[in-house]
Amino acid sequence: MDNYDLVIVGAGTSGAIAARFAALNGLKVCLIDANKREEIGNKVCGDVVAASIFDFLKIDPPQGYEILSMKKRIKLYSSNLQHHLTVNLPIYLVDRLRFGQTLLKDALDLGVEKFLDSSKVMDLTYKNGRVNGVTVRLKSGEKIVINAKIVIDGSGAHSIVRKKIKSDIIQNEIPKDDLVICYREIIQFNDNWRPEMPTDSINVIFDFDSVPGGYIWYFPKSDSIANLGLGVSLRQKSNLKPIYHNFVVNKFLNISNYKLLSSGGDIVPLRRPLPSCADNGIMFIGDAGCHVNTANGGGIHTGMKAGYYAAMVAKKAIEAEDYSLEQLWDYNCLLMNDFGRGHATNDIARFLIQHLATNDFNYIIKKKLISDNELTKMFDGKIISPSIKHLLLKLYKGISKPRLLLKLNYLLKQMKQINRHYLQYPQDVRGYEVWRKIENDMFNKIFLKIAKIDIPNC
Ligand SMILES: Cc1cc2nc3c(=O)[nH]c(=O)nc-3n(C[C@H](O)[C@H](O)[C@H](O)COP(=O)(O)OP(=O)(O)OC[C@H]3O[C@@H](n4cnc5c(N)ncnc54)[C@H](O)[C@@H]3O)c2cc1C
Repeated sequence: MDNYDLVIVGAGTSGAIAARFAALNGLKVCLIDANKREEIGNKVCGDVVAASIFDFLKIDPPQGYEILSMKKRIKLYSSNLQHHLTVNLPIYLVDRLRFGQTLLKDALDLGVEKFLDSSKVMDLTYKNGRVNGVTVRLKSGEKIVINAKIVIDGSGAHSIVRKKIKSDIIQNEIPKDDLVICYREIIQFNDNWRPEMPTDSINVIFDFDSVPGGYIWYFPKSDSIANLGLGVSLRQKSNLKPIYHNFVVNKFLNISNYKLLSSGGDIVPLRRPLPSCADNGIMFIGDAGCHVNTANGGGIHTGMKAGYYAAMVAKKAIEAEDYSLEQLWDYNCLLMNDFGRGHATNDIARFLIQHLATNDFNYIIKKKLISDNELTKMFDGKIISPSIKHLLLKLYKGISKPRLLLKLNYLLKQMKQINRHYLQYPQDVRGYEVWRKIENDMFNKIFLKIAKIDIPNC
């Protein structure tokens, strides 16, 4: 039975960053991943990484074979592809496996004490009501216990740890409404023909008639390689492959002559963070803690941030020899002050968009009811607060859509309320229960109302 300061479950982007900063700060770290070492990072993904994360963490951005291209904008299209909004944020399109391998190698080089690959964490162990380790099935098939002062769970959207934890404050299950299921392919064009889409941006199309409550993406990674796919709410789950071929390949992009390099599907937890991402002896990072940006479905850079914050809070806790929830509470505060509040506020917009009709969404894009600047802020995990007066002025420019105006007015009001509530996120655990009850009631009420206002037209 080994003893570590930290056991980190999962060596994906969030776990590798937590391991890196914990090791760099002198902690004795055991990093465990269910995958073979050479497969770590090979995840079904859009392969987009927000460039700002490398400045934040002060680490080298992708270079050499990890990066395929860099772009400065993201375009969001109406279903007829005639209108779009532009988000101005620099991003990298990476070779996901090589990117993941570099993050892992850096963490190991910086002094992770033990790395176990092909080893699956099965459950948590507890002492005096506090998490104090994990049970692991090793590559050899042997089951062992590994003890640690603190466990960090970075095992992704399907986290067994989150499902199994015995806790009053960690949400074990994520509701179906908060999960998006995706299918994507990476393709190589065989000739000089390319879809009529810009190559200096990554491109997202919204057509709720074809892809109910979801989106289609076309990300040109290099001159000849593109990542394309679609995501829909798990609640609407249907067989995604025929939808992909009918609408992504045939209708929107009209692609025929290509070689399939990779294909696959997975889920994204598209919702605000778990209201508490910590309990006694444990913290949740990345998809395990629902840290995906609710405005755009990107979870790499926020998961990396969460990994960094968790490592820093763990370091302090270990210095103080206190691994209690009270001590780890700082982690929740850091998350909520950074991206958590923005993700929660934008979560209502996400839910409303999933319930909009295609023509309403097209109208929003055509009339630019949300500006490029506002959208850029949302994609950056920040909060926007346009006034109803502002909205009315914009609507006045065209054919009036009173029902849409009412919905958007409702949305803005609720976003303001949620923002205010998250500004009062408790600074210590004692205020949590009351805060959480109000938060839960607010979201239930808003989501119920939005779902009742309109049913997607499919
Ligand atoms: C189709 C699709 C497209 C996406 N596109 C983008 C995009 O373009 N940009 C973006 O920013 N985000 C994107 N995302 C989201 C992004 O991939 C995730 O948010 C991000 O990978 C989360 O990182 P993570 O480290 O938390 O989890 P993961 O990357 O999932 O890593 C989890 C690790 O834990 C390991 N593991 C799991 N269970 C266990 C266990 N029991 N024991 C030990 N190890 C375990 C896994 O092997 C894995 O290595 C996309 C997601 C999907 C599904």
